[in-house]
Amino acid sequence: MKISSREIWEADLDAVRAKGLYRELRRVDSAQGAEIELNGKALLNFSSNDYLGLANHPALKAAAIRAIEQYGTGSGASRLVCGSLAPHHELEEALASFKSTEAAVTFSSGYATALGTITSLVGKEDILILDKLVHASIIDAARLSGARLRVYAHNDLNELETILQWADRQRSSAISGSDSAGVSQYPSAIKPRVLIVTESVFSMDGDRAPLTQIVELKERYGAWLMLDEAHATGFFGRNGRGLAEEAGVSDRVEIQMGTLGKALGAAGGFICGSRALIDLLINRARSFIFSTAPMPAAAAAGRAGLQIIQSTEGRERVAQLWRNIGEARQLLASSSFASPPQFGTSAILPLIIGDEQRAVALAGRLREQGIFVPAIRYPTVARGAARMRVTLNSAHTRDQIKSLSDALARALDVGVTPLAN
Ligand SMILES: *Cc1c(COP(=O)(O)O)cnc(C)c1O
Repeated sequence: MKISSREIWEADLDAVRAKGLYRELRRVDSAQGAEIELNGKALLNFSSNDYLGLANHPALKAAAIRAIEQYGTGSGASRLVCGSLAPHHELEEALASFKSTEAAVTFSSGYATALGTITSLVGKEDILILDKLVHASIIDAARLSGARLRVYAHNDLNELETILQWADRQRSSAISGSDSAGVSQYPSAIKPRVLIVTESVFSMDGDRAPLTQIVELKERYGAWLMLDEAHATGFFGRNGRGLAEEAGVSDRVEIQMGTLGKALGAAGGFICGSRALIDLLINRARSFIFSTAPMPAAAAAGRAGLQIIQSTEGRERVAQLWRNIGEARQLLASSSFASPPQFGTSAILPLIIGDEQRAVALAGRLREQGIFVPAIRYPTVARGAARMRVTLNSAHTRDQIKSLSDALARALDVGVTPLAN
């Protein structure tokens, strides 16, 4: 009997469904905003990473249109062939200046950034140390790099230090016979190289890494730090550079990563750092080298987004976003959901439900009431740690945030109870 490919794939899909993990696309027929039209229905939107409402901002649109008029739509080739257009260079200069680093390089997405960067910096003989909750792009990069992988429990500094001590011993034995007294005196040029990667604000938990302590540890043990600021860029720190700025450690983080697709309202990913780092990535990062350069319109929009967040208007949006976060924290923290310890210290406010099916049911009840909050499930988060991931943006009004909290209370009334914590 011949089984068709379709039958096999249908069976695979049935298995996904049986676990409550089936996903499908929802068509959006409007621009990003506090309200969106989703599957033909107008909904209040608490799901977007467009934290400052720049994805549909007139200045970004105008910049993109100007770039299209001048440079066309396609970049035509990869950056190292003939696709390195003026808007890419202008964006990279603006990013380096924004982050106050020597240089910057952009990729077509944050995902491609993580993939290209990590694989350029560590290989088979090296050691890569990750927080348990880092983003899939970092995990995929780690696998691809072939480096020896060690994972520490989320934000667990003790476990991180234990791993760093172990890594230091590997290095000491690699430099056989020299005077290695525990803490390494050797430059990281010596193998194995040791790279720690963490997010500054975690994408699904919304909590912050203990950055100052991580920086101190990596310096004590001669490791490097790559910091993914995807959910902090634009509105953390005095100039919106990210959590590293807020913690006062920007110039001690070797590899500063971000995305242009979230608060910056465009698309693409970036690394800021030393000229040497950036030149190395341009020479080695395969997701940069073997990919057509991003559309010039995307680069121009990203640069316009950067300009806005550094303007008075941008600062007002940031202030409004933080007021909204405060409002939501107050209203939602008193709900009966399990609240993580740092609830409401970023724009991501997860309501932990636990069971996958239950989270999906709750999201459905909210949609019936005109509110969109995504149910986040495995494999995005651990099994049994499903959650409603509420994200705030600067365009939300007080009333809209109140509607969310009321709708949640009603959804609970009709029998979708959260997991007791
Ligand atoms: C979204 C995200 C990325 C990927 O960025 P894209 O530009 O969307 O590809 C990387 N890291 C984290 C933590 C993210 O949340």
